[in-house]
Amino acid sequence: MKIGFIGIGNMGGPMCRNIIKKTNHSVTVFDLNPASVKACTDLGATAGKNVAEIAGGNEVIMTSLPMPKDVEAVALGPGGILENAKPGTVYFDLSTNALANVRAIAAKLKEKGITMLDAPVSGGTIGAEAGTIAIMVGGDKAAFDAHLPMLQSFGANVLHMGELGTGTIAKLVNNMMAFCNMAAAAEGMMLGAMAGIDPAKLQQVISNSSGNSSAYRLFSDRVLKGNFKASFALDLAYKDTHLALELSDQLGVPTPMGATTHNLMRLARGMGLGSSDTASMMRVYETALKREVRI
Ligand code: NAD
Repeated sequence: MKIGFIGIGNMGGPMCRNIIKKTNHSVTVFDLNPASVKACTDLGATAGKNVAEIAGGNEVIMTSLPMPKDVEAVALGPGGILENAKPGTVYFDLSTNALANVRAIAAKLKEKGITMLDAPVSGGTIGAEAGTIAIMVGGDKAAFDAHLPMLQSFGANVLHMGELGTGTIAKLVNNMMAFCNMAAAAEGMMLGAMAGIDPAKLQQVISNSSGNSSAYRLFSDRVLKGNFKASFALDLAYKDTHLALELSDQLGVPTPMGATTHNLMRLARGMGLGSSDTASMMRVYETALKREVRI
């Protein structure tokens, strides 16, 4: 099968490399960043010239792009998927996208005989490297079934959620919960430090107690090591809580914890930390209280 992969950054890069390493599919890649392209061509991928070439020359197209506007531009903009992909092409968007955007793009593509499935992923860059990420897919079940082995080459928990958009809904709910966990972790870690207990021992306790979660583990590991280099940029997490709150607004569902977490991220972004890792939510507390929580 000929696969074209657009957007091979922190997540797309390792996902694409797992397809290259674990299958015999022919993979062509495109990214605005030449270093990201090289990391895939070094393993045997072909470098595409632009989105148009990827869209026109492959049976399957994948995107892993930062913002909904980026997906929209690549899918529907000039030189994009709509203009160039052939009828019968199957398109998986692995990005965390807005529900309305997924539906609008899929409808336009369908008119041209292109099948889009929303297939956001969870598990972070570590899971993407290890091929253990969850992939939650919404859309045409037959297309899902036909491509399941390929999806399983880079994800360990691949689930068809239902109609188009259901993957995106699951992803937004998951991420809102994960970031609420991180915001709670920031409070707890600072409280423990200010009260004078050893942060490493507190982490050991919580990791084996009822306050534990995978989000807490990831967050506390980064904070304690002072590692705020983006693996999951705060700007992208902020996008996710924004999209979750937008959905809760539309449905009239109260999400006070999601809103508080979103505002904590807003403070961090206001401090210029948008391109740092999501764990830099902790820097808001550390700056306000002039106390770093490290080991
Ligand atoms: P990233 O910024 O590391 O990667 C995005 C890549 O897209 C970059 O390499 C960029 O150069 C490329 N790009 C942007 N516009 C492009 C265009 N027009 N044409 C070609 N390439 C273009 O972001 P990421 O962390 O890999 O996130 C990608 C998506 O996955 C986002 O939607 C994010 O919300 C989601 N996600 C991220 C994580 C994570 O831990 N980082 C986890 C789950 C989901």
